[in-house]
Amino acid sequence: SGRGFTKPRYPYIKKASGFSSAPGEAYDYIIVGGGTAGCPLAATLSHKFKVLLLERGGSPYGNRNISRLQNFHISLADTSPSSPAQAFISTDGVINSRARVLGGGTCINAGFYTRASPSYVNAAGWDGQLVNESYPWVEKRIVYWPNVAPWQAALRDGLLEAGVSPFNGYTFDHIYGTKVGGTIFDRRGFRHTAADLLAAGNPNNLRVLLRASVQKIVFDTQAGRRPKAVAVQFKDENGRQHQAVLADGEGGGDVILSAGAIGSPQLLLLSGIGPKHDLEKMRIPVVLHNQHVGKGMSDNPMNSIFIPTKKPVRQSLIQTVGITKMGTFIEASSGFSQSSDSIQCHHGIMSAEIGQLSAIPPAQRSLEAAQKYARNKQNLPREAFRGGFILEKIDGPLSTGELSLLDTDVDCSPSVTFNYFSHPYDLKRCVYGIRTIEKIVRTKHIAKLSGVDEYPMEVLLNMSVKANLNLVPKHTNDTASIQQFCRDTVITIWHYHGGCHVGKVVDHDYRVMGVAGLRVIDGSTFVNSPGTNPQATVMMMGRYMGVKILRERLGRAAEV
Ligand code: FAD
Repeated sequence: SGRGFTKPRYPYIKKASGFSSAPGEAYDYIIVGGGTAGCPLAATLSHKFKVLLLERGGSPYGNRNISRLQNFHISLADTSPSSPAQAFISTDGVINSRARVLGGGTCINAGFYTRASPSYVNAAGWDGQLVNESYPWVEKRIVYWPNVAPWQAALRDGLLEAGVSPFNGYTFDHIYGTKVGGTIFDRRGFRHTAADLLAAGNPNNLRVLLRASVQKIVFDTQAGRRPKAVAVQFKDENGRQHQAVLADGEGGGDVILSAGAIGSPQLLLLSGIGPKHDLEKMRIPVVLHNQHVGKGMSDNPMNSIFIPTKKPVRQSLIQTVGITKMGTFIEASSGFSQSSDSIQCHHGIMSAEIGQLSAIPPAQRSLEAAQKYARNKQNLPREAFRGGFILEKIDGPLSTGELSLLDTDVDCSPSVTFNYFSHPYDLKRCVYGIRTIEKIVRTKHIAKLSGVDEYPMEVLLNMSVKANLNLVPKHTNDTASIQQFCRDTVITIWHYHGGCHVGKVVDHDYRVMGVAGLRVIDGSTFVNSPGTNPQATVMMMGRYMGVKILRERLGRAAEV
C-alpha cells in the first residue's frame, strides 16, 4: 500500500523517516492527521503559510482495495498492521473501524456524499456564505453523481411506495423524502479521496509525512503563563523519534489536531489535557484539567435487514436514501460477497455468511474467530452470498458515551463506549425504521430483485440475526420483539463523533480552551453527526476553517 507516493505528481509527500529537523526549521501550522478534515485544511493553509501534515498511515495511491468500489469490504476486513482500516471493538461489543491512511475515512468509506442542513449550519454558528463556498470547493474536485444500481433503484421506488416522499431527485441537500445523493466514486467505480484535495495546495509550502505517528503535543508550561503548544513529538515507520517545531511568528500559528473522533481526544489525553484524575492514573503529567475531554462520544446505530436474491445483484454502496421526519434514515448496499475474488475473505460486519459465528458463544467471537470462519467459507454454496442489505441509521443520536486511555502508547486504541440505545428515543426510532423497511420489502420493487413474491418479515429478521456480527449476546425473542432485535443486532455505520465538543473542549474558533497555539478541527467536535452522512461536512469544515484562519491572520490579502 506504500507504492506510488514518491511519484513526481506528489513530490510533497514523503516517508516520515526522511524528516530532518534542521536547526531553526519550523512550521507555521503542524496538522496532525491527514484525514477527511486534515487534507483540505492543509491544502488551504499552504497557500500562505508553511504547513507540515503528519499522517500515521501510508499512501492511498496504487492501492486497489482503496480505489475500487468492489473492494470496499476487503480493506475493512484486512486486519494486518498495514491495513488502511484499523479495527477496534467498543465496550458495547460492536466491531468498528478507524482509518489509518492519507485521506482518512474517505479512503475506506462507502462514498456517499451529502451536505448538512441549513439548520445544522446555523446551530454550529458557521458563516453560511463561507459554508456555501466551501462545499463546492470539495465537490468540483472529488464528487460525482452515481450511476444508480438496480438495488438502489428498487430502494428508491420502494421508499416512495412506503410513503417516504417526496422524491427530491439528485441532490446534495439533506431534506425530507427520498433522494439520490452524491458519491466520491466516479462512474467507473474509482474512488476519489480527501488526499486528492492536497493537489489544490501550494506544493512549495506543503510537506506531508506518511507513517508519522504523533505521540504527543509538546507545551511550553512556564509558570504564570497559559500553556502554549510549541511542537509535536512523533515516531517514523522505523520507530525513530522526531520533533517538529512550530514557528514563533507574528500572530502565531497552531498545532491543529485533525486525527478524528478517536485520535484527537486520545492525543489531548496523551498530551496532558483531560480529566486530572484519569491522567494521574496513567502517570501523564497534567498540563490542563478539563473533565470534558473524551466525553460525549456518540455513534449512530445501524441495523440492517438482509434480503437474499435468486440471482446475483450488482454491487452497490449507498446511493439512495430515505430521510424520515422521525430522524431515521434508510439506506442500502448490495452484492458484496459474490465475486470469486471476494469469496476468499470475510467481509467484516456486512457479511451474511459470517452468521456462522452466531453459533459460537459471544465471548469467543473475536476478530480472529471471524478470520477463521472466513478461511472455511470457500466450502459454502455461492447462493449463500447473493443478496442485499436495507439498513437504517438513527439521526443524532441522543445516546452518548465516553473515551478513556488504556495505555500511554498511541498505537493502542483507547477504550470507547457509545451506549447505543441508552436513550429511549433512539430505540423508538430504530423500531420505526425496521417497520419502514418492512413496508419497503413488501413492495414489488424488491420482489422483482429477490425473485420471491414476499419474504415473511420473521424469516428476514431471523436471517438478519444470524448474519449479524457483533459481540452482543442474542435472545430468543429477537424476531418477536423489534426492540430486542434493535439492541441485539446493532452495528455501526462508522459515523462516530464527539470527544472534543465545542463549548466544552474547544471554543467556537476550534481553539482548545485554556491553552494557546492548539486547535481541534474534525468530527470530534460534533455533538450530532451532520447531514445524512458526515464526510461532506467534515471535508467542508477543513476548507472552511482553513479560509477562516487565513482571513483572521491576513484580512483581505487572504483570498485563495
Ligand atoms: P479521519 O478521516 O479518520 O482522519 C483522521 C486521520 O488522522 C486518519 O488518517 C488517521 O490515520 C490520522 N491519525 C489519527 N491519529 C494519529 C496520530 N496519532 N498521528 C498521526 N496521524 C493520526 N461518511 C459519509 O459521509 N458517507 C459514507 O458513505 C460513509 N461511509 C463510511 C464507511 C466506513 C467504513 C467508515 C469508516 C466511515 C464512513 N463514513 C461515511 C464516515 C466518514 O468517512 C467519517 O466520519 C470521516 O471520514 C471522519 O473524518 P475525520 O477527519 O474526523 O477523521
